[in-house]
Amino acid sequence: MHVIEIDKALCKGCSLCCYFCNDKGLRVLAKSKEMSELGSYLPTLQGECRGCRWCEIACPEFAITVRKEEKC
Ligand code: SF4
Ligand code: SF4
Repeated sequence: MHVIEIDKALCKGCSLCCYFCNDKGLRVLAKSKEMSELGSYLPTLQGECRGCRWCEIACPEFAITVRKEEKC
């Protein structure tokens, strides 16, 4: 299972990460109603993250970290 962490102090709400989160039309990252510290809408997971890391690579602010969580 993968989780993403978004640095609220860095995210400028450009949605590039959401655009790149796309596997044959399936997108699990979308804009939320939660605000970043910069006053823009943060992205949020709306499904199961595949761990491809495209969002992490695409973010110009280095605001996303994708992490694999081990099951207990
Ligand atoms: S996490 Fe990065 S790519 Fe995604 S909206 Fe924020 S600044 Fe843009
Ligand atoms: S790691 Fe891949 S599947 Fe997960 S949120 Fe980022 S782009 Fe989407």
